[in-house]
Amino acid sequence: MVKMIGVYILLGIVALFAEDVKPWVPKLNSLSAFEKHVLINKGTEMPFSGEYVNTKEDGTYVCKVCGAALYKSGDKFDSHCGWPSFDDAIPGAIKETPDEDGSRTEITCANCGAHMGHVFKGERLTAKNTRHCVNSVSLEFQKKKATAQGLQKAYFAGGCFWGVEYYLEKIDGVKEVTSGFMGGHVSNPSYEEVVEHGTGHLETVEVVYDASKVSYETLAKAFFEIHDPTQKNGQGPDIGSQYLSAVFVSTPKERETIEKLIKILEGKGLQIATKILPSAPFYKAEGYHQNYYEHKGSTPYCHRHVKRF
Ligand SMILES: [Zn+2]
Repeated sequence: MVKMIGVYILLGIVALFAEDVKPWVPKLNSLSAFEKHVLINKGTEMPFSGEYVNTKEDGTYVCKVCGAALYKSGDKFDSHCGWPSFDDAIPGAIKETPDEDGSRTEITCANCGAHMGHVFKGERLTAKNTRHCVNSVSLEFQKKKATAQGLQKAYFAGGCFWGVEYYLEKIDGVKEVTSGFMGGHVSNPSYEEVVEHGTGHLETVEVVYDASKVSYETLAKAFFEIHDPTQKNGQGPDIGSQYLSAVFVSTPKERETIEKLIKILEGKGLQIATKILPSAPFYKAEGYHQNYYEHKGSTPYCHRHVKRF
């Protein structure tokens, strides 16, 4: 207790008289009694009791008091000791001080001096032969923010591509929708060839989207709501194999998403005709098919929005 009061007096003096007041000092008042016990009075939490013993998520562990970044999740390992263990710290973030009796080495935040735990060397638990044994309560985890995954592509066939393009282009996060053909057996088919039913292609749109703004599932749901996925012979008045309903998937995850949505729709009593097909080369249609309704200044005859989810 005497030690703790001493720290407070010291910090109070620092706060009042130091030229640059340590910005984390007010934070000390909001610490719980147990946090003060560990961070200031160098206490130790019970093994296997802390919040971060088994966490494996990607991110950074920062000092509970001052917010300094101390450990990267990539350096965390399972030591089975009951405390979060790291075989390295962020360079310069941790200060090592041998205990008075020389038996152990204490680790503290190099920025504010808060107690973290102890470091052990020579245990041969990892290649770095080092274990920072840290109290969970001394840390705060900052999950790595989802990084922009860049632009992704999705492929949907739902009848005349003019209408599918028209609606999907209006979704936030969609950068570009291109009308074209997929799934046939000749390269670079012309519209005439496809219409004559000889090529096996489906009128398909390529959706380029920002995955950090809109999910594949959102796009797929929209797809199922802007065409009739129960029609088996085409779409609306457009009858023929090139107008069939299909999703061309590029990953197992996309396939799972479409299967899930089809199940939901079937659960609502709809008999879904939409096929799930593996993605294949996409051939852009002739220029006059692109942004058809926009150029024409009209709205689709064959597609409309129907809420199904
Ligand atoms: Zn700190």
